[in-house]
Amino acid sequence: MNKKIYLSSPHMGDKEKYYVDEAFKTNWIAPLGPNVDAFEKEISEYLGVKDAAALVSGTAAIHMALKVLGVTYKDIVFCSSLTFAASCNPIIYQGAYPVFIDSEAESFNMSPLALKTALEDYKSKGKLPKAVIVVHLYGQSAPMDEIKEICDSYKVPIIEDLGATYKDKFAGTLGDLGVYSFNGNKIITTSGGGMLVSNNTAFIDKVRFLSTQARDKARHYEHSELGYNYRMSNVLAGIGRGQLKVLEERIAQKKHIFETYKAAFKDISEIEMLPILDYGKPNYWLSVITLKKNSPVKPLDIILTLEKENIESRPLWKPMHLQPYYSKYPFYSLDKDGICTSEDLFNRGVCLPSDTKITEEDLNRIIHRIRACFPQINF
Ligand SMILES: *Cc1c(COP(=O)(O)O)cnc(C)c1O
Repeated sequence: MNKKIYLSSPHMGDKEKYYVDEAFKTNWIAPLGPNVDAFEKEISEYLGVKDAAALVSGTAAIHMALKVLGVTYKDIVFCSSLTFAASCNPIIYQGAYPVFIDSEAESFNMSPLALKTALEDYKSKGKLPKAVIVVHLYGQSAPMDEIKEICDSYKVPIIEDLGATYKDKFAGTLGDLGVYSFNGNKIITTSGGGMLVSNNTAFIDKVRFLSTQARDKARHYEHSELGYNYRMSNVLAGIGRGQLKVLEERIAQKKHIFETYKAAFKDISEIEMLPILDYGKPNYWLSVITLKKNSPVKPLDIILTLEKENIESRPLWKPMHLQPYYSKYPFYSLDKDGICTSEDLFNRGVCLPSDTKITEEDLNRIIHRIRACFPQINF
């Protein structure tokens, strides 16, 4: 069997073990501790944001963001449709009601046009959303100026899910609250973990309180609010501190992978790379290609060809408005040729292996297999 090539797997540097060992030596194995405090500080500094709370996952961070914005039973929350279910599941945890917004073809992210239509509609119904969850898909920022301008005009707060940069600032620091995930498949990982960041320090203070079981200040256990056990462990924060030191290096490797695919498929007119817009610097989390509508080769052909070679690839996120669980909720589409943009992208897209441990030899093997799917090409 050929060596397995992963889509995106954990990649440790040489500092993680130092911080983890330190946690063991000092017996800070409990949740919280010096690594958690330092990791929060280091992330805040890196992003240029006032405060950050380290949590057990990105999903927990989204949940806490909704909590501090006061999202509750029967409230409405808008969310990108083309995303992972983790972006919208916390809306349901709060008993609120998701409304899904289509993608734009330019960045694959939330369409400002569809967002505007949805906001106008809900305003006329007299029920504006309590928040808009904007996802920065596959490592590229959404068009934040347009989205912010629309949300600001309706005074609706923005929660950003995952980051890249946008006009010299980090996506995740442009809205009211930003969410990062350190799951095993992300650019940097703590095996599992997340971070909620904001320039509103009152929000983050509140999240620290809520995510440690909402214990009031008293000698005994006193609770006047519903609490959660969502804080990151001190051992895992140690991994995160080490990982942060190699983040720039990892982004450079991800970019190299993307550029290598781009150059290799330049002469195959059926293949288009994820468009990279000039308003920011993506982190190239996953290299995404789309196949033109008339392409005789379909995404599944590529996925199955690679699978036979023990190479992992995947379709794009299946839009939330098409998911059995979520299809009953409203969706605002941006139609193109009679099909909504997110569904069209889902039908035509493939996420290629973007693992930072990938070698040049691995990349050549993947490229060779994909090129062989297009028989008219000479190679
Ligand atoms: C990974 C991911 C999440 C969830 O993060 P977890 O840490 O796995 O809970 C949320 N949204 C998007 C877009 C993601 O890619």
